[in-house]
Amino acid sequence: MTTQERPPTEGPPIGSDRVPSLVLVHTGHGKGKSTAAFGTMLRAVSRGWKVAVVQFLKSGNWKVGEEKVGRSLGVDWWALGDGFTWDSDNMSETEAVAREAWSFTRRLIAQGNHRMVVLDEVTYPLNWGWIDESEMVEVLRSRPSHVTVILTGRDAPDSLIEAADTVTEMVKVKHAFDRGIRARRGIDY
Ligand code: ATP
Ligand code: MG
Repeated sequence: MTTQERPPTEGPPIGSDRVPSLVLVHTGHGKGKSTAAFGTMLRAVSRGWKVAVVQFLKSGNWKVGEEKVGRSLGVDWWALGDGFTWDSDNMSETEAVAREAWSFTRRLIAQGNHRMVVLDEVTYPLNWGWIDESEMVEVLRSRPSHVTVILTGRDAPDSLIEAADTVTEMVKVKHAFDRGIRARRGIDY
């Protein structure tokens, strides 16, 4: 970590929009990947952008709190997973749902109606081979130039990291879960 002797006198360069959009990846094993995406979503909404969120693991029955807030802010929200996949007793059906979610999402990106598209937990179906990695990279590379895409999930593959502009790895220093404390309303969902 770098330390500064004096407080900065200049902020980061802003407004130099030479590239019209970005691809951002939030990966790693620490907490904060999805919440950072939803924080960025708030910034986009505050600028009047049209935003879409697609959740690849959360089922429609298990609405996370941020979905309610996102919808109330006019965000288009789809929870296309089939619940938590590792609980599913029908993997082939779960796989089919994930594939369907991806074909929906690639059309959504290509249509360009949204200036920001969040693909939450998308690395899991990617790493399970349900979504083709090179196809996803191609969809990102050929997206309409104004569409920013944020992808979250553990173990982002190298090709995705390569294709992205900004990649952040959330490093777990500690997690309450390791002490047996389970996910909490208001903090984890
Ligand atoms: P969040 O949604 O809180 O930003 P995340 O997107 O980084 O978390 P995921 O891998 O998507 O994390 O995990 C989903 C759930 O597991 C969330 O409830 C999250 O708080 C919790 N979680 C995140 N990191 C860990 C971890 N290292 N160990 C156990 N549970 C975790
Ligand atoms: Mg997450």
